[in-house]
Parts: sequence; C-alpha cells; structure tokens
Amino acid sequence: MPLIAKRLQAVRPSQTKAMTAAAAALKEKGVDVIALSQGEPDFDTPEAVQNAGIAAIRNGRTRYTPVAGVKPLLEAIRDKLKRDNSLEYGIDQITVGCGAKQVVFNGLFASLDRGDEVIIPAPCWVSYPDMVRLAGGEPVLVACHERFGFKLKPEDLEAAITPRTKWLMLNSPNNPTGAVYSKAELAALAAVLRRHEKVHVLADDIYEKLVYGKRFATMAEAAPDLLDRTLTVNGVSKSSAMTGWRLGYGAGPKELIKAMNTIQGQTSSHTSSISQYAAIEAIGGNQDYIGDFVSDFEKRRDLVVEKINESQGLKCRSPDGAFYVFVNCAGVLGKVTPQGKAIETDMDFALYLLEQFGVAVVPGSGFMASPYIRISYAASVEELQHACGRILAACEALS
Ligand code: PLP
Repeated sequence: MPLIAKRLQAVRPSQTKAMTAAAAALKEKGVDVIALSQGEPDFDTPEAVQNAGIAAIRNGRTRYTPVAGVKPLLEAIRDKLKRDNSLEYGIDQITVGCGAKQVVFNGLFASLDRGDEVIIPAPCWVSYPDMVRLAGGEPVLVACHERFGFKLKPEDLEAAITPRTKWLMLNSPNNPTGAVYSKAELAALAAVLRRHEKVHVLADDIYEKLVYGKRFATMAEAAPDLLDRTLTVNGVSKSSAMTGWRLGYGAGPKELIKAMNTIQGQTSSHTSSISQYAAIEAIGGNQDYIGDFVSDFEKRRDLVVEKINESQGLKCRSPDGAFYVFVNCAGVLGKVTPQGKAIETDMDFALYLLEQFGVAVVPGSGFMASPYIRISYAASVEELQHACGRILAACEALS
C-alpha cells in the first residue's frame, strides 16, 4: 500500500516555490542569480509593526489564543473592512489564519463536496486549482485573454456556471497579471451571479493596497446584496511587508466562518499570537508607509515594462496593480538557444533564462496561461536593471 494518499495525486507543488528553490540552489553553488520569481515585497516590516510584535513577546502574549484570533485584532479587521471597503461585518463573521493562503484553503475545505465546481479565471494564482483539488472539488478554468486585460467577461462567467458551481474565485489586483477590476466590472459580474443564487464568491483582495492610479473595489462593495454569499479574504503579507509573519483573514457568512474555525481548531489552532498583536498595528495603525511602497513599486514597474518591450520577442502591458509583469513570450517560441536547444514552451524559456543568464522567473504554465513568464518586480532597481539587461541579451542570443 503506497504511503502517500491518492488525493495528493492530482496536486502539484507550487511552480513559484519550485523556481525560487532552483534559483536558491544555483546561488548556493556560487552562480550569480537574480531571483524575480518570488511573490513578496523586498521591504522590511514597518518599524511600528515590528515593535508591536516585540512588545507582544515582552508582555507575555505568547500563549494560545482563540481559534478565530484575539478580539482586538478581530475588531481592527472589522473596522478596516468598514473604513476601506464600506463592508459591515460582525466580529463573529471574521476569522484569522496563517496567511490569506490558509484562509482560502479553509474556505474551500469547509464548503466543497466531491465534484463541486469552482470557477477560476485564468491566469490565476498557482495555488487555487490545487487547493480546490485538495479539498475534493473540480477547478473550472476560464481563460481571460490578454486583449481583454486578462479579466473575466460576464458572458464567459455565465457560460461556465453549471448546477455544480459553488464558487467563483476572484483575485484583484491579480497575481500574475496585475489586472485590477473596476467597481463597474465587478457589478457586471454580480449581475450574472444574481441569476445563480447557489454560486458564492471568494474575493482574494491580498494586493488591495498595491494599485497604481486606479481605485480598488471588492465584490461585496460593488454588489452589497451579495455580501452574504461572499468570502472576502485579505491579509498583511503584501500591504505591510509581513510575508513571514503568516497572517491573513477572511470575512463572510457566519455559518462558513464557523466551519472554517472548526477546521482551523482541529489543525493549526490559530496563527502566532505575536503576529496577531503585530497585525493590530499593521491593520489599525498608521499606514503612511504604504504610499512609499506604492510609489517605489510603480517606478520599478515602469522600468521593467519599458525594458521588456524593447526586447526581441517579448511584450507586456503595464499592469495596474500588485508587483508582477506578465510577459507574452510567444515571439521567442520556435527559436533556438546558442546551446542548440529549441524553445518550445514558456517553461523552456524560463529554464533558459535561469540556466544561461541567471534570471529566475516563473513560466505562465504555472498560472494556467501560456506562453507567458511572470516577472516579480519586488526587487531593487539595480537588480531589476541587471535582470532586464540579461533578459534582453538572452532574447538577442536566440536564433
Ligand atoms: N493570494 C494571492 C493571489 C497571492 O498571490 C498570495 C501570495 O502570493 C496569497 C494569496 C497568499 O498570501 P499570504 O502570504 O497572506 O498567505
């Protein structure tokens, strides 16, 4: 009898983590690698937040907490959702987990029965389809074309809904495309959902604060009548440079939150007490630093977009949010490397960049869209300049 459960057979390891690990392994061997594969801000956690974490340790906030999170944190999240998103949630409608990732997983695990379908607009975050499979559901990928800004069209949503559809997963700003849905675009999708009462919406708003010149909107704000069938997910990883603290949250119908807490109570119990106290400061305290993050990211985005569009064979749009550029690499397919290897897929191109030019990016196949590569611009301007120089040289070397 095999040791590993059958349910793992359909689940793949994250390609983002795989490329980052491959880059780290080369670095360890002394190879000069620039990693543009990871999804985390390169800034330090703001000082006031660090201090709140340190104070939590010193004040003995180091014990088990309630499963859903400590009350002052739930209150800070409730107030944030009201202040920033005009959403009215009670604290019994909020749960805190080990990152938005665990909250998304708990939401799916709490609600999916075998064969239930989850509509995922693609390109999508690497983890969504695998989380759905792990929870026993069926991911239904709906292609969102580059010419429509990589956004889901209402008619494509309508066509994808079946009697088994349980969720629509929306992620705006989007990983990997940086696409941001306007309030009107969300309202158009909501009009479809109104015709299908059984379909719920998981709004993954983790990149909410990282938008460039656009106004952020979330589904329950654009369509308040859908509030009781929406799970709004967010966290502090990207907005407050706190990826390692592992703190995300979800707000939704009481019944769902209760079920998610049951799962969490029997698995991780809760995220770190120290992270919870630090997050009170991150969510409720002064957030002026976010303006600096945004203006830094915007400059880096412009640099990468300009350089990539100067290359032979690559092109990209200028994304409105997050910190990724999703680059169309159709123009390099069919070419041959100086080593005599044919570039047939975006994975071939990503491996060529890594192995021959020391730049780690993630192939679009990981995000269910090819042929693309995702470049994370959460790196210093100097690193980005070097990396873009190498990518341009890599394209030029192809024949
Ligand atoms: N959702 C999306 C779309 C992401 O890109 C990520 C991280 O890359 C997460 C959720 C996970 O965030 P957290 O660090 O809070 O688990």
